[in-house]
Amino acid sequence: MKYLSTRGHADRPQFCDILLEGLAPDGGLYLPEFYPQVSDATLTAWRGLSYAGLAFEVLSLYIDDIPAADLKAICDKTYTEAVFGTQEIVPLRPLEDGLYLEALSNGPTLAFKDMAMQLLGNLFEYELARRGEELNILGATSGDTGSAAEYAMRGKKGVRVFMTSPDGRMSPFQQAQMFSLQDENIHNIAVVGVFDDCQDIVKAVSNDLEFKRQYKIGTVNSINWARLMAQVVYYFAGYFQATKTNAEKVSFAVPSGNFGNVCAGHVARSMGLPIDKLVVATNENDVLDEFFRTGVYRVRGSADTHETSSPSMDISKASNFERFVFDLLGRDGGKTRSLFHDQLASQGSFDLSADPAFAQAASRYGFASGKSTHADRLATIRDTYERFGTMIDTHTADGVKVAREQLAPGVPMIVLETALPIKFAATIEEALGQPPSRPARFEGIEALPKRVKVMPADADLIKRYIAENVH
Ligand SMILES: *Cc1c(COP(=O)(O)O)cnc(C)c1O
Repeated sequence: MKYLSTRGHADRPQFCDILLEGLAPDGGLYLPEFYPQVSDATLTAWRGLSYAGLAFEVLSLYIDDIPAADLKAICDKTYTEAVFGTQEIVPLRPLEDGLYLEALSNGPTLAFKDMAMQLLGNLFEYELARRGEELNILGATSGDTGSAAEYAMRGKKGVRVFMTSPDGRMSPFQQAQMFSLQDENIHNIAVVGVFDDCQDIVKAVSNDLEFKRQYKIGTVNSINWARLMAQVVYYFAGYFQATKTNAEKVSFAVPSGNFGNVCAGHVARSMGLPIDKLVVATNENDVLDEFFRTGVYRVRGSADTHETSSPSMDISKASNFERFVFDLLGRDGGKTRSLFHDQLASQGSFDLSADPAFAQAASRYGFASGKSTHADRLATIRDTYERFGTMIDTHTADGVKVAREQLAPGVPMIVLETALPIKFAATIEEALGQPPSRPARFEGIEALPKRVKVMPADADLIKRYIAENVH
């Protein structure tokens, strides 16, 4: 398999070349040259596989520069009951008739980002060892991404993590999760400022090409193709659990922010997995819902980006969205470039409502969308708990709310559970008048010793800190 850029660059790298890279040289995102098709016979053969076995089969279609035995060992080591809590890894639970929850949040940090990040950690360690190289991951987080990255990279050879977060602004549970890590290769930096300051620092450091080269700075952000590819697997696993034959279709409802999760669903559907609808659920930050309703993609400024009770979906633009638009436009790199590079920069928006391609987002690609507000979230959490005794987190609640609006008779709707309620305890208490249950292994983590360096929002000081801690 070769990879191409959504903006038409001529390079055609292989998987391991793009694994350690972010953007393509022209600023586009990488996608495979084509989506391998899975036949009816293949689906039948995959039905009986373990999650790790299924992951190996799916990944093998996209990776041909890692020997099969090595890739198999990486999948087996990643997707274990010890790490993800159950043998099924992503068990399906029924709610009301036709509605299911697929549990993606039983990994080390209790959010679905572990599903991809745990694999990424093992792939990085493997590839860096093979090349005899090192990597220093620099990131900015307001919660889930940073902790998933740290738990994936802790103790890994050849990798260090420098994770910035806004000082005092993450939930106490999230701070405890990250700052209690004592691994030498994990560096928490609490920046005195807001999340945007952290992102600006990461940008400033990455734009210093000399520093970047000298200190081998890399990222693990959500535009990494390997993360997306890992997420394709659980669409297959959910489908197999909800159906008995390949003649049946299912729909997925996906709490969405940067469009990474649901883009993996788009890839699975494009491979021939019998998916009816892909339902994009947003919170008050409804950039994506607006696009699927109107054809207008309008990036928000920071003043228009709301702080909500499903904070991992508080986005001003959806960084993976370009991948879908590229497919929607018949993989026209020139057109994608002019929308994302030129029009977004000059106007902050583009409008496809008059383009015949836009109608295909629903008719050909199965997309539907909806939005959920704080009041919806509280009502959905309460209702789901009262009727089914199931506590769901705030992001999953957005998914359930929008899923119910899109239910079709005879088609199971699978809502992806993207985090556990304990991560967002304050809103659960607001909805239910009681705190969420806490998995035993997280009892008392707030009291553990913390390993964190508080620093001013100053890119030069953070560069110096990195330089002192590499070697
Ligand atoms: C990251 C995240 C999302 C959004 O996922 P995208 O891939 O960015 O669309 C939703 N819910 C939770 C809990 C998350 O951590």
